[in-house]
Amino acid sequence: MRKPIILGNWKMHKTLGEAIEFIDELKTRELPKSVEAGICAPFIHLSDLVAGSKDSDFGIGAENGHYEDSGAFTGEVSIASLADLGVDYVIIGHSERRQFFAETDEAINKKILKSLEKNVVPVVCVGESLEEREDGSYESLIKRQIEKAFMNVTETDASKVVVAYEPIWAIGTGKSATSKDANDMCKFIRETIKELYSDSVAEAVRIQYGGSVKPENITEYMAEADIDGALVGGASLEVDGFIALLEGA
Ligand code: PEP
Repeated sequence: MRKPIILGNWKMHKTLGEAIEFIDELKTRELPKSVEAGICAPFIHLSDLVAGSKDSDFGIGAENGHYEDSGAFTGEVSIASLADLGVDYVIIGHSERRQFFAETDEAINKKILKSLEKNVVPVVCVGESLEEREDGSYESLIKRQIEKAFMNVTETDASKVVVAYEPIWAIGTGKSATSKDANDMCKFIRETIKELYSDSVAEAVRIQYGGSVKPENITEYMAEADIDGALVGGASLEVDGFIALLEGA
């Protein structure tokens, strides 16, 4: 049985004060035990959020990380230092990073390998643009993104990876994929992982849907057989909204 996982992606939102206020409030609330919950926040807040969420029922994640442990990479933060801080998750290859920061499949693969080495759960984002959806090339694109992401990942480690299927046209647009379309793609990703590894790895890997998920539609997605949770941007910014997502899952 795969435990559902709901992660918030705050992107470049919230001051430190606002972030701490959110975490302090979340800690006082009863969270459903059946769902794994986490908040992925800007680097600058992570130290306080990890300290502030000790003994809580939710984890803390980063939104990116560098695969080198240290070096002359001005402005970057290493996955090794995130691990040292006690971060639980790292989002890797979000479409905004692929699109605006020229992140390649090769760099994404190195980041996944480093996260696994450092025992930080990699949350790997894949997804197609509207153009790729409309011209029908989306399945081959997603297959390639998955194959490259999992390159050199061992059979033992593969099931620790969380995959987030996030069609770019659905992110932050309010235009979510239908639950059937989202499930079809999550199933396709699971079949691709089965081809790369085995039935048991494919059955163990958790695959999230992301793209305008909100309290009003989460239950519909979670009712689908191959959707194991959600990566949520906008709707994770308020405590009540985030809890409603967990309860709806
Ligand atoms: C995201 O940030 O990954 C995302 C899916 O955003 P939103 O939920 O706002 O569409």
